Amino acid sequence: MYNIDLSGKTGLVMGVANARSLAWAIAQPLAQAGTRLAYSYQGERLLPALEELTAGQDAALLECDVTDDDALDALFATLARDYGKLDFVVHALAFAPRVTFERPFIEVSREDWRVAMDVSAYSLVAVARRAAVLMPDGGSILTLSYLAGERVVPNYNMMGVAKAALESSVRYLAYNLGPSNIRVNALSAGPVRTVAARSIAKFGDMFTEAGRSSMMKRNIEGSEVGGMGMALLCEQLGSGVTGATLYVDAGFHAIGMFVPEGYDL
Ligand code: NAD
Repeated sequence: MYNIDLSGKTGLVMGVANARSLAWAIAQPLAQAGTRLAYSYQGERLLPALEELTAGQDAALLECDVTDDDALDALFATLARDYGKLDFVVHALAFAPRVTFERPFIEVSREDWRVAMDVSAYSLVAVARRAAVLMPDGGSILTLSYLAGERVVPNYNMMGVAKAALESSVRYLAYNLGPSNIRVNALSAGPVRTVAARSIAKFGDMFTEAGRSSMMKRNIEGSEVGGMGMALLCEQLGSGVTGATLYVDAGFHAIGMFVPEGYDL
């Protein structure tokens, strides 16, 4: 797919739930370029799908709920033992209780705020701290964000606030880890039909609107997130980029005024 040789490189991919997952879209070109990957999954229920997807890859499949510090310690201890070092980490996971997408933001409870922030933002810090130990020669950490972290997008509510914290964490982590030649970046992806997207009220309408209103007049494909992910992760292409949030959204983020269809402004 890409003429890049990543044999000898190792990577951890977190957040593959099925073939539509953005984590999977990023993992595929990495694996095709020869990266030896390990995958972490949230719980037992996700294992069969992951086993099926990764059949043929020599990859460890490791359970890790990111809200559990012991599970994170165990994950990185296994990686240290079996992989020795890491070059890449893909952090492509998030969660907010369904009610936060359905009720006005002003009603968010303290507990729902805590859960969304813990899974969707703090987990990147918890992962980066452990991963950095396994990156003595440098490396690259990539997370996934969305425009709702910068602007109001109806119904995203708490997840928008968590993405704001995530993008800020990317910058602070990049600052901490830059001297160690470890880069930390986020991709801000346009809407893609995944399991996580289904929990967002009226996602279908927003998906259609994002495609219609984007500069390129279309939605993005998961594979386009995969391509940009590959560029940010691998040293040959992305060595000068850190602390950044890059958009893969067909230009939607840069539009200042949306013109109704058929209206000539
Ligand atoms: P997905 O449902 O395929 O992936 C979400 C993953 O998060 C799942 O694998 C799930 O198991 C994992 N997860 C949730 N809670 C977890 C926990 N406590 N511990 C470990 N893993 C946990 O959906 P996706 O759309 O591929 O989501 C991946 C990332 O992309 C998320 O950060 C999401 O916010 C972001 N994103 C998605 C879109 C979109 O439109 N799909 C757009 C921009 C950003």
